[in-house]
Amino acid sequence: MAKSVEDAASNEVGTPDMAELVAREEQVFGENPLEVRESDHYTHEYVGGFVEKWDDLIDWKKRYESEGSFFIDQLKARGVKSVLDAATGTGFHSVRLLEEGFETVSADGSPQMLAKAFQNGLEYGGHILRVVNADWRWLNRDVHGEYDAIICLGNSFTHLFSERDRRKTLAEFYAMLKHDGVLIIDQRNYDSILDDGFSSKHTYYYAGEDVSAEPDYVDEGLARFKYTFPDKSEFFLNMYPLRKNYTRRLLREVGFQRIDTYGDFQETYQDGEPDFFIHVAEKK
Ligand code: SAM
Repeated sequence: MAKSVEDAASNEVGTPDMAELVAREEQVFGENPLEVRESDHYTHEYVGGFVEKWDDLIDWKKRYESEGSFFIDQLKARGVKSVLDAATGTGFHSVRLLEEGFETVSADGSPQMLAKAFQNGLEYGGHILRVVNADWRWLNRDVHGEYDAIICLGNSFTHLFSERDRRKTLAEFYAMLKHDGVLIIDQRNYDSILDDGFSSKHTYYYAGEDVSAEPDYVDEGLARFKYTFPDKSEFFLNMYPLRKNYTRRLLREVGFQRIDTYGDFQETYQDGEPDFFIHVAEKK
């Protein structure tokens, strides 16, 4: 039976009961949402109602157009055959990779997201996604094999709130890549939000029509975003505002030898301009 929000709020954040999570529809932030700064909390954020609406937010068609073949080109240029989509979400990139003939495994720590991804795979081209429910910090436990590439896209890495969790995750990614493998990881341009304020030219109205995604609260340790849908429903995500050069440093310290950072898919950009940074990190 689904619990009430209050019941759920009083639950300890730890290893969640999967059946309970799948049934739960409401996001749970408790009494002090701004104090929720924990890597485990994402499983309480990507819940039924929000997952169902996620595809309105990201609008597959528009995303397909704006990304073009950027990721596919990066992978093909390196002769990649096998890819682990570590943050599958509702499956946009997994489907894209399967369409292009990559051998793809689709992992995510949210069972609701994976259920939606599996459904989307069937809907968009009849693909059977190989889904694995796995938390990045213990990736090796649940996902097996070595990959030519790992992708962690859609501003996902930002869900980790401690440096220890970030290092652990990157170490897991590093270990699951072949000796010449590549990790592609992206993030919002938090430098611009932190330094210029969020009333700058970045509007955060992106992708889906009439869906807004905008910062609700920001400090050096938290970026809380609010997502509003045409039916007036509101959802939130609490994220850690990664600075670009901090992410690059972590990638280097974990062992990646070459890191190229693109701004909104472009090689040259001015730091304040892009909405997203994409780090392409090579192991060799
Ligand atoms: N890549 C997808 C996209 O671009 O649409 C999904 C992006 S969504 C913002 C972030 C995803 O990361 C969610 O599906 C969430 O469940 C997953 N996630 C967050 N923290 C995680 C963790 N520690 N381990 C595994 N998955 C995690």
